[in-house]
Amino acid sequence: MPGNATKLIHGADELIRVPDVAPPINVSTTFAYSDDPSQWVKAADATSIWGERPIYSRESHPNSELVEQTISSRVGSYVVAYSSGLSAFNAAITHFNPKVLAIGHGYHGVTGIADIWTRNHGLKQISLEDDFSQLNKGDLVHVETPINPLGTVYDLETLSRKAHERGAFVLVDATFGPPPLQDPFKHGADMVMHSATKYFGGHSDLLAGLLFVKDKKTRDQLVEDRVYLGTNIANLESALLLRSLKTYELRVSKQSQSATAIVSYLAEHQKEIPHLKKIYHGSLQKDDFVAKQLVGGHSPVFAIEVDSEEFAKNLPGKLNYFYHATSLGGVESLIEWRALSDPTCPTTLLRVSIGVEDVEDLKQDLFQALTK
Ligand SMILES: *Cc1c(COP(=O)(O)O)cnc(C)c1O
Repeated sequence: MPGNATKLIHGADELIRVPDVAPPINVSTTFAYSDDPSQWVKAADATSIWGERPIYSRESHPNSELVEQTISSRVGSYVVAYSSGLSAFNAAITHFNPKVLAIGHGYHGVTGIADIWTRNHGLKQISLEDDFSQLNKGDLVHVETPINPLGTVYDLETLSRKAHERGAFVLVDATFGPPPLQDPFKHGADMVMHSATKYFGGHSDLLAGLLFVKDKKTRDQLVEDRVYLGTNIANLESALLLRSLKTYELRVSKQSQSATAIVSYLAEHQKEIPHLKKIYHGSLQKDDFVAKQLVGGHSPVFAIEVDSEEFAKNLPGKLNYFYHATSLGGVESLIEWRALSDPTCPTTLLRVSIGVEDVEDLKQDLFQALTK
């Protein structure tokens, strides 16, 4: 069995139709039918077309199939790709169709979709701390771990057990802890989602989402729904994502190690940084489940709380190697005064996404800006 980095470069070799080392970007939306009528596949049977002759790019196209097959070979589950992380979440909630949703205080866009469901369908929302006896068979528990914007970790095994006791399903948004950092399936997840805009994409230049599922039946249903939701990953985005997958293992490992080193440096030097009130990161969390879940390292995202709103707003401008921008997961380090994106976030909080720059440069840059 090849290793993970090898799979991300060669995992879909059998689907590549030309000798090009960098697969061509197929921009076509439509593909000519065979001259042989016995080869025709009706649109209604299109979920079976994996790896065969594409029909129409809203269903599937050569670049999206390469993306799905490559990631699937790496993660060992079925993979369905979407036009964004939020369209992946929307596909998941459409699939489960819960009456009650237990959800934590995570990514604001996911909450936004849940609120649309509440408005349109009366979906009842409860928190992850609430009594799960309110959940019934077929309901959904959505756990984001590590969670946005703090990078701290939820106990998946306990939440999954409580959900499954009620017959509810567990969806894990693992965007902040992509492979090889954690495998939510090992801790009870029924489905895993990622905003591939973040670590899988890794270059701040594409939008995409992923759902990982364990069985082919669910995969086929998701693909069929995706045809009608119109949310397949686009041609150009797929080509960019395929490029990104080739360096994925290098990037994520380095970003995770650098973030953990920077967090521990800031924690050790906190007395010399009076403006720095608190650091949030899984590596500072002492609960047993943290080490059990994050076997491959901690999230490359963490958050800091400083002593005033004014200091928080001015901090990004003092940094040399961090862009003040939303999002995360790219090779470039980013910092964000998070209240700009999430109005519920405290105005003294900054979210930091560590890129692949030299870790010493990032450490010194944060230290000089925080002590200026
Ligand atoms: C960015 C993000 C999303 C949404 O993904 P898009 O690709 O922007 O649609 C969902 N969950 C988390 C944790 C995210 O960071």
